Amino acid sequence: MQAEQVFRAVERSKYEFERFYQAAAMLGRALTPEQVMETAFDAAAAIVEYDAGVIALYDRESKRHRVEAVRVDAQAPLVDAEALRALEFKDNTGLASMVVKNRHYLPSSGEPRDLSAPVYTRKVKVDDARSLLVLPLLAGDEAIGTLTLMARAEKRFGRDVREMLSVIANQVAVSLENGLLYKRMETMATTDGLTGLTNHRTFQERFAEMIERADRHGTKVALLLCDVDHFKKVNDNFGHPVGDEVLRRVARVLQEVPRRIDVPARYGGEEFAVLLDNVDLAQARQVAERLRTEIEKMVVETEKGPLRVTESVGIALFPDDGRERSVLIERADLGLYHAKHNGRNQVVTYGEYLAHQKSGGGGGGKEEVKKAS
Ligand code: GH3
Ligand code: MG
Ligand code: MG
Repeated sequence: MQAEQVFRAVERSKYEFERFYQAAAMLGRALTPEQVMETAFDAAAAIVEYDAGVIALYDRESKRHRVEAVRVDAQAPLVDAEALRALEFKDNTGLASMVVKNRHYLPSSGEPRDLSAPVYTRKVKVDDARSLLVLPLLAGDEAIGTLTLMARAEKRFGRDVREMLSVIANQVAVSLENGLLYKRMETMATTDGLTGLTNHRTFQERFAEMIERADRHGTKVALLLCDVDHFKKVNDNFGHPVGDEVLRRVARVLQEVPRRIDVPARYGGEEFAVLLDNVDLAQARQVAERLRTEIEKMVVETEKGPLRVTESVGIALFPDDGRERSVLIERADLGLYHAKHNGRNQVVTYGEYLAHQKSGGGGGGKEEVKKAS
C-alpha cells in the first residue's frame, strides 16, 4: 500500500490521523499472536464501526484456513461466534479463499453482490452483513490469512476506509508473523524436539517453581522418574527410528494420563520425569500405576510385527522425602533403581526402597546406583 495514497485517504476521511496512527502503533507493541489479533480488532474499530470481525490464518502446506479470533457484539451477534471459532476448512470458492489466492480484498466495493455467497464455507451464514470486507493479511508477498469485517449497515467500507484497513491488515500480518515466530522460538527453547514434552532445562525450572509454591501452601509435590525397560534392545532389534517412535508414544501417554497442571518432561534419552502438583503419596502412586499400565498396553506396529514395551518408575515426594530438587531426584532415582533390580515394569517409592534396604533385601548400595544424569 502506497503511503501517499493512504495519507490522502486519511486526510479525506472524517477520521483523525491520530487515531489511525495510534491503531497502527498498538499493533507494533503486541507480542503474542493472541495480543496481535485482539489489537487488530481494536485498530479496525478505531477506523470504522463494524459488527463482527474474524481473523483466519492460512496454512500453505495443508491448504487449510483456520479461524483464530472472532469479535462480535455479544448482545446482538451478527454471526454465530461459537461456530466460527471452531471453523477450519480447505481451500474452496468462498471469499476468504479467493482473497488469499488473489492477495487483494473482496468484495471490491465493500458490499457483497450476493448476500448468500459464502465467505468461509456454505455452513457459515453471514446473510445480514450488508457491508463486508475480507482483507488479505499480507506479509511480504504472501497472504498468511484474512481479516474479515462485517456490518449490518450499508456502505460502511467506503474507498478511504478500505485503504486504511488494508494498511492495518498488512501491519497485522507482519506483527502476526513476528508473534508466531516468537511463539515458535519459545516452544523450541522449552520443549524437546522428538516428543514435544517439556525439556530438561524447563523441567528443572518448573520443578523449582512447584516446590516453592508447595512450600508456601504446605502442599506436596511428587516426582516420578520413568525409564523404559530394556530400551537398548528396542533399538538393537527394531532400529533407532522405531525406538524414536516408541519414545513419542510413551510421551503421549505421559501427556494424556496426568492432569493439565502436572508437568511431564523428557528428562533425557529414554528417561522421563513427571511432576505432580498437590498430591499425596497414594495419589502419586496411582498416577504412576496408570502410566505404567497404559504403557504396558501400548502396541507399536513395526515392519517386524507388533512391539510392546514396559517402564519402571521411581517416586519421591516433597517434602517427605526431601526438600531439595537434587535430593528428590536422587531419591526418585533410588526407587527407580530398585524397580529395575526387582524385575522392572513396576513402581517403587523412595520409602519402599528404604524399607527394602532395612530389611536387608540388598540389591546394591547407593554407590552402585546409576545416576539419572
Ligand atoms: P534398563 O531396563 O535397565 O533401563 O535397560 P535399557 O536398555 O533401557 O538401559 P539404558 O538406559 O542403558 O539404555 C538406554 C538406551 O536408550 C541407550 C540409548 O541408545 C537409547 N536412547 C537414548 N536416547 C534415545 C533416542 O532419542 N532415541 C532412541 N531411539 N534411542 C535413544
Ligand atoms: Mg536409562
Ligand atoms: Mg531404560
